[in-house]
Order: sequence, then structure tokens, then C-alpha cells
Amino acid sequence: MLGRRKPADKKPADKKSSSPPASDEPEIEQVLFQGPLFGREANLKAHAKLVQSGLLPVKMMISDALSRRAHTILLEPRENRLTIRFIIDGTPYPVAALPAPKGAAMLQMTKLLAGLDPLKRRDNQEGGIKAEYNGVPYHLMVDCVPQKTGGERIRIKVENRKVIRSRPADVGLPTSVRNRVREYTSERSGVILICGPPESGSTTLSVVTLHSVDPYLYSVFNMAHLPGVELTNVSDFEPEPGHDLELSFDRLQRREADVIFLDRLEDPHVVQTVFDYSDKLAFVAEIRASTPIEAVQQLIDWIGPDAVIRGLRAVLTQKLVRRLCDDCKQAFRPSPPLLKRLGLPPETSVLYRAPTPPPPDDPQAQSIEELCEKCDGSPYYGRVALFEMLEMSEGMKEVIAEGADPAAMRKQMVADNMLTLQKDALRVVVEGSTSLEEVQRAFNPGGARKRPAKQRPRPKSE
Ligand SMILES: [Zn+2]
Repeated sequence: MLGRRKPADKKPADKKSSSPPASDEPEIEQVLFQGPLFGREANLKAHAKLVQSGLLPVKMMISDALSRRAHTILLEPRENRLTIRFIIDGTPYPVAALPAPKGAAMLQMTKLLAGLDPLKRRDNQEGGIKAEYNGVPYHLMVDCVPQKTGGERIRIKVENRKVIRSRPADVGLPTSVRNRVREYTSERSGVILICGPPESGSTTLSVVTLHSVDPYLYSVFNMAHLPGVELTNVSDFEPEPGHDLELSFDRLQRREADVIFLDRLEDPHVVQTVFDYSDKLAFVAEIRASTPIEAVQQLIDWIGPDAVIRGLRAVLTQKLVRRLCDDCKQAFRPSPPLLKRLGLPPETSVLYRAPTPPPPDDPQAQSIEELCEKCDGSPYYGRVALFEMLEMSEGMKEVIAEGADPAAMRKQMVADNMLTLQKDALRVVVEGSTSLEEVQRAFNPGGARKRPAKQRPRPKSE
């Protein structure tokens, strides 16, 4: 095996391998590599020596990662060693620290499999590997970046091609948000934006938002380039050669378009044009910003407050928190003071939390890993999304006109009863999908222990 597996990750299938294996048979199902993505080629024959030393360890690493539901694999150089970490449900787990020669072979082999040049070490390279594991198709997106301290860092993002989460119900988008998106797009005007920090799933959320538009009532056109993403009931729109954005939007208007899906907004000139047309067409697009408030401020920098007030309708974001394992979560009756502190209805009769760990002084008690086979006592399995939507209410327009102070915007969101991540976290807790502890961790990473005991177990407001 590649490295030590923490006991918590022991799977039932592994139990037979606790006795010495009869042959060199691998412990877990092996991944099948099916060639590089993006039309690249991998010339394994030209690198026979590398294949001999690197292929098996890479295969084992990827198999191990997929068997543990990792969504990201990180290979990083650190003091003459290559460290490997898996990110599972948003939490990094160290997997191995390999001596430099073996680490270098794995790095180069990963690049070769992704159709990249294994010997080129000074430039960023991006590629991907098509793979199959346990009958499920995967795309492994490989991103290779040289480090200032020497060596390279590789990030492998795992995409399960069978799980296509692009419908509102798939990601748990609340009906209230869907209805607001429908109301806004029904006006055939205005801009709806989607933002979030890297890896927060904002591209998926932008597709989901677009899919909230009623395709039978409105004609929706796509101008975004999202390889591998399937849009339903949306017509692709290719600009005529030589046409700029204005001419394309004119053409779309003549085709009676209602809603246009755009590539992520990054260029002030494009943003200006989009907002110029926002009284005749509705737009949905991503914007690079961590929070809706940051997105509004970015827009103001680009096109000024008046255009933002006139054209913007809403900015959406999501945050992923770990989902409590259904097999071992424990129900408890929240006390009235707790409900009051959280602002939950007094009739809330049940919330859920992680199972209580076994008493340390009882040798007969089951260990935490033995408590649940599904999550290995972790006690989380998968993730659940919290949503936030900043809307252009009359109050918000005033706050923006007065200088768009972030604290004042946050206050206005609460005053106008808009959906905030903190508020939505309580919805998810009441649903039983996650615990108060997880919400607290997600909003205050690393700080849970430093908090004074009297502090409320309410997610910290930003
Ligand atoms: Zn469990």
C-alpha cells in the first residue's frame, strides 16, 4: 500500500487483507486509466523506465483516493520528500511522505498520464486523465505548478462523471431562491450573479441557477464555455465571426432571447456592455468574488454604483459543510434556552449531532471506528450546501448609493430578511443534515477552542 491508512478509514473489504496477502494482489479495487483528456496523448512507450517505477504507485494512490471519496489529491514537495494529502468532504488528510526519488517518479508519471510533458518542470501545465473505478467514470483534472522553493506541486481534482449535479433539487437549492430567480428572469432584464471562493462549487451553482429559469416560458441562450457541462433546454449561441458583444446581444434580441448565460465576468468592458443591455435582456453569470458583498464592490469598481443599482438583481453564493452520517447520527431534544439562542421555533423537537464517543476507561466499549461502518466513525458522509442571496432591495440600493459599506450591506441583508449563510445553516441543522458543531467549525475554522465558553453556539456573523 502506498502509505499508512488511518484506522478510521478501514473498509469492510479490507478486513481480509489484515492477514498477509497470499500474492502481490492489491488490497483494493484498482483504477483503470483510459488515456488523457482534452485530445492529448500519453506516450508511455517513450518513457518505459518511468512507467516501470511510477505507474503502480500512481495507480494505488488514485485507487486509494477514489475508494475514500477524496475530491482533491495534493502532491507537494517538502524538505526532500513528497507529501501526499487527500481532501475528503473539504477536510485534508495526510496520506504519505515519500522519499524524493519515489516522489519524483510519481509526479512525472502523473504528468505523463495526463498527457503533459513529464520532463518540463519550469512551467505551469494543465491536463486531465480519463479513468474508471468500480464501474464509475471519472475525470481527474491535473494541475501542475512549479514551486519557488524547487520541485513541483500537483493538484488532482476528482470529477465523478456519473454524479451530474446541475438541477436545483440535486444541490438542495431552496424553493424560495428558485422562485426569486424565476421572478427576476421573468422580467427579461437584470443581472443575476454567482460567486464564491475557489473550490466552493460556484460554477455548478451558476448552472443550477440557470436551470431554475422556466424553460417552457422563456428562451434561454448559452454563451459560456463550460467543457463537460450539459445544459438542458438551453440553446447554444455562437457569435458570428467578427461580431463584438454588442452585435451579438443585438442578434440575440432579434431572436427573442430572454435569458443569456455568460462566461465568468472578469473584464470591465464586458461587464459594462452586459449592464448596458440589462434593461433588454436578463443575464446569469459567475463573477470572481468570495462573497456577494465583495462581488457588489467589485462591480462598483468596474462600472460605478448607478449602473449596479439599475442592472443588478441578485448575487448568489453557496458554502459546503459536511453532512452528518445518516447511519450513526444521534437525535437529541434541544433545550428551550438553546432554541432561543439559535433563534429556532420553540416547537423544534429534535436536532441531530455526532454520536457520543465511547468512554475512554471502558476497554469493552466499541472504538469510534467500530461504531459505524458507513462513515468509519468520522461521523460525516458527503456534504450539504448552504446558500446566500444578496438582493437589490430598495434599502440595498440606498446603502450602495451611500458608499456600499460592507457592514451596512450585511445589516441591510438581515433587515430585509434576505437569505444569509448563517440563516441557511440553521435550516440545514433543523433538517437534520448537519450538526451545530459542524456549522460552528465551518464558520470559525480552527477557532472553536479559543472561543470563550459563554459564547453562543450560533454561527459567527461575518
Ligand atoms: Zn456513520
